[in-house]
Amino acid sequence: MNTIIKKIDAEQIKDDDFQQAGEILREGGLVAFPTETVYGLGADALNSQAAAKIYAAKGRPSDNPLIVHIADTEDLKRIAAKIPEKAGILAEAFWPGPLTMIFPKTDAVPYGTTGGLDTVAVRMPNHKIALELIRQSGVLIAAPSANTSGRPSPTRAEHVRKDMDGRIDMIIDGGKVGIGIESTIVDMTAEPPMILRPGYITKEMLEEIVPQVTLDPAILHQLKEGQTVRSPGMKYQHYSPQAHVILVEGEWQNFAAYAEQNKADGVYALVFDGEETRLSLPCLTYGASGQEQAQQIFSKLRELDDRGAHKVYVRAPKPEGIGLAVYNRLIRAAGFEVIQV
Ligand code: AMP
Ligand code: MG
Repeated sequence: MNTIIKKIDAEQIKDDDFQQAGEILREGGLVAFPTETVYGLGADALNSQAAAKIYAAKGRPSDNPLIVHIADTEDLKRIAAKIPEKAGILAEAFWPGPLTMIFPKTDAVPYGTTGGLDTVAVRMPNHKIALELIRQSGVLIAAPSANTSGRPSPTRAEHVRKDMDGRIDMIIDGGKVGIGIESTIVDMTAEPPMILRPGYITKEMLEEIVPQVTLDPAILHQLKEGQTVRSPGMKYQHYSPQAHVILVEGEWQNFAAYAEQNKADGVYALVFDGEETRLSLPCLTYGASGQEQAQQIFSKLRELDDRGAHKVYVRAPKPEGIGLAVYNRLIRAAGFEVIQV
C-alpha cells in the first residue's frame, strides 16, 4: 500500500484539506492524524472491519480497546448508554482536551472497537486538525496512538512514517504535538470515578471539579498473575525502544555514581536538562519540568534507537502531578525494571 503524506497547517486550514482523508475514513481505511497529546491512528469507530485494520497495522493485541474521538458532545449520546452527571461536568470542564472517559457502550459501538468490552472510552481532542477531520469526514474516529504496538508513541509525523509507512492509507502531517503523552483515562462506571491511566490532567485537577477521584493501583505497580485489569492496555510492556531500559530512582549523586559504575559500550543515560555535563557516558536529556518531560520522553526514547543505544539508565521523575504520567510510561518502557539507588 502506498501511504499518502498530507501536510496540513492547523492555523491555515484550506477548504479541500480533508476531502481525501474523509473519503478514506468513510470507506473503512486508516488515516493517522495529530492530536494535542500524540499522533493517533484513525478508523471509523462504528465499523468493525475498519477497526480491525487498526489492530492489524499496529500489531496490537485484540483485547486492547480503542478510544473513540468525537467533535461534539451530542455525539456522546450515540455511543454512551449512560452518562453520569459527573461526566457531564468533567466534559464541560476539560473537553475538548486530554481527558478520556469510560461509559457503558450502546449497540452502535462494535465489540471490535472496544476489545470485546461492554464499555467504550471517549474523548474530544483539542486540536484543530483532529476536530476538523472528525467533522468533515462525518465519522466518529477510533484512534489509538499511531505507533507499532509496544513502541514509544509518536509525537511527530516522521515517527508515524517510520512505524506505519506502507501499512496505512494516509498520514496527516500537522507538525509536532503539544502535550506529548496520551490522555488521562477516567472510568466513569466506577464510583468514585477512577483514573486508569494518568496524563496531563492530574487527579488534583479533576478533584477541583468533582469531589473525589481514585487511582487504579496498576498505574504504579505491576499486576500479579491472575489480577484483573481495568485498562487492558496497561498490562502490556509498552512505549519501549529497542534498547534495554532501566529506570533508576534516587538522588542525583547516587544516580550519577551508579551510571558511571555501569559505563560500557552502547550504554546511555537519559537524564534531566543540565545533568548531562556531569556524566562521562553518552547522554540524552528529556527536559527539566514535568511538562517538558512529557513533551520529550517519547521522542528521546526513539532517538536512543537512532543512536544505536543498547542499554539506557533513565533518571526517574517524581511520580507527582504530570510526573506521575511520565513515570507510568517509563516503568512500562522499562518492563517494570526499576532500580533504587
Ligand atoms: P492508546 O490509544 O494506544 O493509548 O490506548 C488506549 C488505552 O485506552 C488503552 O490503554 C486501553 O486499555 C484504554 N481503554 C480504551 N477503552 C477502554 C475501556 N472501555 N475500558 C478500559 N480501558 C480502556
Ligand atoms: Mg498507545
